[in-house]
Formats: sequence, structure tokens, C-alpha cells
Amino acid sequence: MTDGTRVLVLNAGSSSVKYQLIDMVDGSRPAAGLVERIGEADGRLVHTAADGTKRERAEVFADHPAALGAVAGELAADGLGLDSPRLAAIGHRVVHGGQRFTAPTLVTDEVVAEIRRLIPVAPLHNPANITGIEVARTLRPDLPQVAVFDTAFHTTLPEAAARYAIDRKTADEHRVRRYGFHGTSHQYVSRAAARLLGRDPAEVNVIVLHLGNGASASAVAGGVCVETSMGLTPLEGLVMGTRSGDVDPGLVFHLHRVGGLTVDEIDDLLNRRSGLLGLCGDNDMREVLRRAGEGDEEARLAFDAYVHRLRKYVGAYYAVLGRVDVVAFTAGVGENAAPVREAACAGLEALGIAVDPELNSVRSGAARLISPGYARVAVAVVPTDEELEIAQQAFALVHGRN
Ligand code: AMP
Repeated sequence: MTDGTRVLVLNAGSSSVKYQLIDMVDGSRPAAGLVERIGEADGRLVHTAADGTKRERAEVFADHPAALGAVAGELAADGLGLDSPRLAAIGHRVVHGGQRFTAPTLVTDEVVAEIRRLIPVAPLHNPANITGIEVARTLRPDLPQVAVFDTAFHTTLPEAAARYAIDRKTADEHRVRRYGFHGTSHQYVSRAAARLLGRDPAEVNVIVLHLGNGASASAVAGGVCVETSMGLTPLEGLVMGTRSGDVDPGLVFHLHRVGGLTVDEIDDLLNRRSGLLGLCGDNDMREVLRRAGEGDEEARLAFDAYVHRLRKYVGAYYAVLGRVDVVAFTAGVGENAAPVREAACAGLEALGIAVDPELNSVRSGAARLISPGYARVAVAVVPTDEELEIAQQAFALVHGRN
């Protein structure tokens, strides 16, 4: 137990660290920032203070310890150092928690060892997350460190949804199953969507469409996730900025045997050179919309393929849930791109899903409904806040409320 009211949220990626200090009593965010290009010659740290002023440092951050040391320095310069008694916990975003971590977890040596054992299923993310945890533990050994897993919200998937229809022994030997990602966002948004309707999340069925550069959908029944579009890796599901989403797995063999591509080349193709980028050369939806508006055929096709896949998933998740109360759009594209929301819901009137063009065109940072009053299913825009969700889960855990 601590008397602190603040949580430092750390999101350590392979070459970046994002951080936010959140006060759980007054909701303020006294500091936030980002270190980019760790290990490269042109590293950069941008720190945003409580009053919104930014400080920028362009220098080499040799490794994660150096980057996190610089973050600690920036916080200390604002009187918010890691030694502050006001700090209750550090909340770490950890991408992969496998089947073991179903809830936020207090970090111990054993927990770190287990996150390390999951590296084979999250080779790009878990190593950086572990480094973040280890450095933070060194800087402040007495403070509770809480790991919040991107996969945890999806551990409730029924076995029939989590299993691929392949040989069980092979699957189990290599931990092959559908894990899902973006869980912290899906959890936050599904609850916020229920609250927007003025209802208890336990009574509400939600389809969440998290459309950022990575994109995923989930079906949430009464607060419990029952289906999600990402799988063993974040490649499955929706068309994304640079990822293909669903493809026939036979495509991999074809490109290898007939096309002569190596496994690494196919991995690179599907994860980094596909999706909107692959279809039209731009991965930013703003550019896609601008070009499509000017009559560019490739951009139009990219947009159409993107929303076609979305509509297909909305229909599929309707069938999974049986009854849908609200469809919630979130993340960069979902929160900002009215044409995507309109096209994703077009033609779904028979399911009770419709978008009011006027409400849809309103620009706002607030959670809001965009469906007409008569519609059976609410359609909402709900800005996601993964940092707040991580902070709340970490704070609740250290105060014994989990
Ligand atoms: P995220 O991963 O949630 O930060 O989302 C990033 C993506 O959101 C970018 O790649 C853009 O494609 C998209 N985005 C951000 N702002 C807009 C906007 N005003 N209109 C359309 N797409 C946007």
C-alpha cells in the first residue's frame, strides 16, 4: 500500500518509450512524453509539462536504460522525479501475456521470467517491454510495478473462437492459438460505450472497431470479450495501414514456392508493405481519403477494400453476439475519419445499424453518438485512452481493488 495518488505509465517499444504521469484523484496529467529512435544517431525526446509546454532534446539515446534515465531526468526537472512519494505505482504496457496473464499483475522476478518465456510468440515487443520493467525496477526498487497486458482482455475468448482448426498437439507444442491484441483499448472503449448509453457494461453488447495504424475488431458481451480479429499475431483480421489482415494462408506457400520469396521477405511483405500501403502506396488514411476524393483509382480501391472488410466483420460479430447494443469506433481512423464510419455501416440498416450524416460529420474529442434516434443499434465514436486504462488497472491493483 502507498499513499501516492499518481501512476507513471510506461510503454517501452523496440525503439521508443512513451510515458504519461496520471493523477488518479484529480485526473490531471502532470507530464507526458516520448523518446524515439533509441539506439540511433538521431534520437529525440519530447516532454510535455502539465501546462502543455514542450521541451525537446535531440541526442543519442544509446539504449533503453539511457532513454529511461533521460525520462527520469525530465520528470525530476519538473519536480516529478521517480523518488516522489506521490507516486503509487508504475504501470507497464506489456504486449503479450499468453494464457497465463488474464489480469494486471504485480511484477516479480517470476513474472518477468514468464514474460520472457513468451518472447517466441511476441519477438518484436516483449523484449522491449521487459527492458522497460527492469530499468524502472532499478530506478525505483521499492515501488510497485504493474504489468498490464494487451492480450489479457481477450483471454475470455471461448475455446471455439481461440482455437485454429489445426492439429491440437502441434498447436499446443508451439503455443499456437488466437490471443488478440489492443485488449486494453477494447476494454476501455467497450466500457465507455456502455456508459455513453447510460447503461451498466455488464448488460451491454458492444462491437468495438479499433482503427489505428494497426486495426482490430472485438465482440464484447456484457463486458466479456468473446471474439476478436487479431490472432496468434497482430497480422490477422482487418485491413490495416501496412498489414494485410486476413489472407489465405496458402498465399505464403505460393509466394515461397512459386514466387521464390523467403519466409522473412513474406513476413516483411504482409506486415510492413501490405494493407492500405500495399494497395495504394499510402498507409495514412488522411492521404488515402484525399487521393480518393481527387478520383485516384488505387486510393479508391484501398478505401473500398478497407471498409468492405470492416462491414464483413461487423456482420460476423453481430452473428457472434446475437444482439448488438452499440458499435463503437475508436483510434486514429475510427475517431477522425467520418467517411470510413459512414461506409463501414452503409447497407446495414436491416441489422438496425445506421449513421446520421450530420452527427457523423461533427468534429469533437468527446465520446458521442452518431446514429439516428430511431436506430435499434447505437453507433458511437469513443476516443480510446489506453494510458488511463493502464493507470486505473495498476492503481486498483496496488490498492487491493482488483
Ligand atoms: P493511431 O494508431 O490510433 O495513432 O492512428 C494513426 C492513424 O490514424 C494514422 O495512420 C492515420 O491514418 C489515422 N488518422 C489520424 N487522423 C486522421 C484523420 N483526421 N482522418 C483520417 N485518418 C486519420
